[in-house]
This record gives sequence, C-alpha cells and structure tokens, in this order.
Amino acid sequence: MIDFDALPAGTTGVIQIDLGQLAANWQALRDEVLPARCGAVVKANGYGLGADRVVPALANAGCQTFFVATLSEAREVRGLAPSATIFVLDGVLPGSEAAFLEIDAVPVLSNLEEVGDWSAYARQHGTTLPAALHVDTGLNRLGLPIKDIRQIASQAHYLDPLKIYLVMSHLASADEPQNAQNQAQLNVFEGLLPLLPTVATSIAASDGLMLGKPFHGQLVRPGYALYGGQASQGQATPVKPVVSVYARVLQVADLAPGQSVGYSATYKPSEQRKIATIAAGYADGILRSASASNDERGGQVAFAGQTAPIVGRVSMDLTTVDVTDFEDGVIKRGMWAEIVGPTISLEQAGAHAGTIGYEILTSLSRRFHRIYTGEERISA
Ligand SMILES: *Cc1c(COP(=O)(O)O)cnc(C)c1O
Repeated sequence: MIDFDALPAGTTGVIQIDLGQLAANWQALRDEVLPARCGAVVKANGYGLGADRVVPALANAGCQTFFVATLSEAREVRGLAPSATIFVLDGVLPGSEAAFLEIDAVPVLSNLEEVGDWSAYARQHGTTLPAALHVDTGLNRLGLPIKDIRQIASQAHYLDPLKIYLVMSHLASADEPQNAQNQAQLNVFEGLLPLLPTVATSIAASDGLMLGKPFHGQLVRPGYALYGGQASQGQATPVKPVVSVYARVLQVADLAPGQSVGYSATYKPSEQRKIATIAAGYADGILRSASASNDERGGQVAFAGQTAPIVGRVSMDLTTVDVTDFEDGVIKRGMWAEIVGPTISLEQAGAHAGTIGYEILTSLSRRFHRIYTGEERISA
C-alpha cells in the first residue's frame, strides 16, 4: 500500500513501482525456463517505469542480458549495467557503427543490407564484430526471410567477420496458446537453424515463454511480464503486479437531471447523479479511448475495492467518474482514486480503453510523483 501521507504536499498523482517484485518476477521467470537463460527487455524506458531504476534492480537480481530498441537506450543501459550483454533490437543504422563499438552493444541484424554493412565495417577495421540475427518466421515486421538466411549462410563474406551471439525470431500470436501459428513459426525457425553456425537461440517473449520448453531456446526475452503484466490469454504467468497508480479527487458534485458531463456533452443522464473529478487524464495514462457516453461504457477507477465508472470524455488532465453508488459523503475531495492497482489490473485498464496493458504502462504519466520500493528485498 502507498503511504499517501508521506507524499509531497499538493501531489495529484502517484505511481508506485515495487522494484523488489520486479526482481522477484525476473527470478520466477528465470526459474520457470531453466535450463534456458532469461534476459530482460527494458526498451521504452523500462516500459515507462524508469530504466534508471529498473535496470539496476534487474542486474542486482542476477540478470546479465538486456534488450533495448535503440542505440540511445543501449547507452543508458550500459551506464547502469557495465558488464551486461546489451542487444539493440532496431539494429545498427548506417553511420552508427562506431557508437555500437564504443558502448559494446550488440546489434540485432534484421536484413541483408544491414548484415552486409556490419560485416563490411568489421573487415574495414580488421576485426570481428558481435551480432544477433533476427529471422522472420511469419511476423513480417523485422527480420531476415529464409531466402536471405540461405544467402548469408552460403557466402562467407557475410558471416566470417561476425561473431553471432544469438539467432532469434519473434512470434505473432503467442498470446493465444492454441493458435497454430506458434508451432508453424517454431517449425520454420528450427528448419533454418542447420544453415547457421551453432549458437544460442531465442524466440519467446512474455507470452511465448508460457508455450513451454520447445519455445524457450537458449534465451527468453520477457518484457511485459517482468513489470507484472499477464501477456498470455492462456496460462497465467508466475508474476505479480509491480505497478500501482493513484490520482486525487479534486471535486465531488451533484449533477442535476438533464445536465451533461465533459467535452462534447457525451454523457447526459436523465436522473440525478454524483460526479467525482479525478486529477488524471490522457496525459497521465487514462487513455481518451476510456471515455464513456450514454451509449458506450468506458474505463473505471476504484475506491477501496469498489469501482466507479468513467463518464463523459477523458480530458488531458481530468477524468470524471460516477460515484452515485457510494454512500453519501464517502467519496470526498482529496481522496485517492485507484487507476491501476489491486482492484484494476493493467489488463483491465487496457481492455477498458480498447487496448492492451502494454500501452497503459508505457503511457503512464511523467508528471505523477514516483515512488520506488522494495529494493532492499533484492538479492541475486
Ligand atoms: C518488445 C519485444 C519483446 C518483449 O515482449 P514482451 O511481450 O513485452 O515480453 C521481445 N522480443 C522482441 C523482438 C520485442 O520487440
């Protein structure tokens, strides 16, 4: 629970991040996938939770392999985890080769041109360079198609100057354990491995690692699950929530029959209601798509375990909720409304906004006060 009384005066919103639980989640996944190894995906500023706190917590828990999206993210992680292996999922763009060497980051190479450029750079400098290869097995987003893998494997100038750390692929439908695309992608992946030097393989993210041993390869790459997210629609992942988000009630007011609430007057009840206005809006992670009108339900907040539905449009800084069902005087100015926490999971917050918990996490406010807890519980 958050110690609201200890917050700086005037705080309107707070995000609590339990680093001890984050570390415990990583360790639970590490144990789940043994003897495969477990990395951690910390892109997008540690899924919005603050890479500067998330990375040291994971490193102290024993994590030695980090995945980021971009070079600048890799630079930050290098400063936080001096001895870790850092993979950059977006790969190496022309002109950034030297920067990769400087911070000892490993590019994930996803197309033939990129492999050719990185090998040429290695030859020019008379050295061998580290790389991961990303194979496309059906996601059709980033990755080398099979025909290009054949070409790389058959022409020595591509791979000779490279030290391949990892061959990886990414699943399209791993959140649905029954989806036949999972096994189909695994089959394609396993079919092309004999073409490549024997190295570690990686195919599973948070959802994929729940598909079982055949999907673990030598290294799994969870992101969302570390932060307490349940990515799989099948089996529950053995992780617990890390994040809770609360914002303050600024006003409670009666709404007279026939009056409307918010921009464009989308909510206009015919009977008297009681409306609480919360100090959080779409700039804070209550997405505008969680708005509600007379015809459509939206998101909700909670007070001590009881939910209150959002009514009207979510605006930038404010959200209105209907608290008519609470006993008179229970919901008061200055109280804290739960946006994500014990009553409203990340997945529910996502579903209410027509999206996924991932988008909620990475949209969480930069203006809310942040509290990091549980660091003292971390041990390798
Ligand atoms: C973001 C990402 C991951 C992590 O995915 P989660 O669902 O958050 O576990 C793993 N691999 C790749 C290639 C990614 O882009």
